[in-house]
Amino acid sequence: MNSPLQSENFSLRQQLEALLNEARCNEDKMRRFDQLERQLIAAGSLRELLRLLLCEYKQAFAVEYVTLALVDRDDEARQILENGPLDETGFSDLTLLGSAQALDIQYGEKRRPCLGEFDAGRHQALFKTGAIRSVALLPLTRRGELIGSLNVGSASADRYNSACATDFLERLAQIVAICLENALSQERLKMVGLTDVLTGVQNRRYFEHRCPVEISQARRYKHPLACIFLDIDKFKRINDSYGHQTGDEVLRGVARLIQSQLRSGDTIARYGGEEFVALLPKSELHHAHHIAERIRASVEEKPFKAHSGQAIKVTISIGLSMLPARNLADDNPQCAEQLLAAADKALYQAKHKGRNRVECAGGLPPSAARRLLSGVLRKFVRFPLALLAKSRGA
Ligand code: GH3
Ligand code: MG
Ligand code: MG
Repeated sequence: MNSPLQSENFSLRQQLEALLNEARCNEDKMRRFDQLERQLIAAGSLRELLRLLLCEYKQAFAVEYVTLALVDRDDEARQILENGPLDETGFSDLTLLGSAQALDIQYGEKRRPCLGEFDAGRHQALFKTGAIRSVALLPLTRRGELIGSLNVGSASADRYNSACATDFLERLAQIVAICLENALSQERLKMVGLTDVLTGVQNRRYFEHRCPVEISQARRYKHPLACIFLDIDKFKRINDSYGHQTGDEVLRGVARLIQSQLRSGDTIARYGGEEFVALLPKSELHHAHHIAERIRASVEEKPFKAHSGQAIKVTISIGLSMLPARNLADDNPQCAEQLLAAADKALYQAKHKGRNRVECAGGLPPSAARRLLSGVLRKFVRFPLALLAKSRGA
């Protein structure tokens, strides 16, 4: 039979065992937090940081759902992510918000982690999908402002509750907020170095980095890639006649017109003085030719104005080349140079044939040739018909 002393001893042992277990558990948790935090701090880019938060976190802590809502007032993060290297990680668990309003409502004045039962009405927007039973929502703040929210969801109802200590989570939230802010300002600096100051489009350095990336994507997914090289015709004359400032205005205007004809996944860069280059992924020759023609026509039709108010007629010549299909499988590092050289050569032909035209390396696609021919015919037929109608009406 147990004496009272023995049973007290037993109970104390049990308590000690429970405390030791909790300490071991906390130590393990701390180790995992520490490891993740070190990785976050070492992340070399915004993409890497997002990958760690949205993928690594789930594995390290065996949770089912992790999402991030980031306040992105100026669309800066969106641009950075769109312009970065392409990969299959689409960050579907990332939501970019135009303002902090939704987060302000979620966290109120306190801005402390919220742990507890999943409430579809309040939390669904943060998670989109999933059979979530309990959540830990971490407000990310910098200098007193909410910059985002890291949202962790568990399929287990008792994983997160309001009685849980939040020290580790609060520390993690602080580190995540600092890392996000740092990553964004680093990316901002990179963007400034890759943007053309005059026109606001990307610069040649960006293009040279981007072109091999687009080529390897085209090879990998076996989709076509078109390259168009654009050069303003007789631009020196514009400078000489109307001044450099007006020349700059024309450059800016032409860049805007080119951009307005391209899709968001296309790349456009100012390659040099009055030369631009664009990459159109997933564009077949006939489509790319159609776009190039549209750009050419839009510049021709747009009347630019000198400071005196005088209208300036501007035209551009365009050379178009396609990443050859037969090269899709090979891994030729000179592919980018060849693609560009072919477009440049086609541009030279366009200049040689009288400017204000599009030339394709290897000739026109039949559909584009038909379209061009019918356009020319329409022009020539419309004119006599109009004359005929005029003379009849007279
Ligand atoms: P072509 O039809 O053969 O292309 O003739 P072009 O006059 O356009 O070509 P050229 O290479 O002879 O002249 C290009 C001019 O572009 C010369 C240069 O002064 C001008 N240019 C280059 N960069 C800028 C710039 O940033 N601003 C302005 N205003 N002009 C520039
Ligand atoms: Mg030129
Ligand atoms: Mg020129």
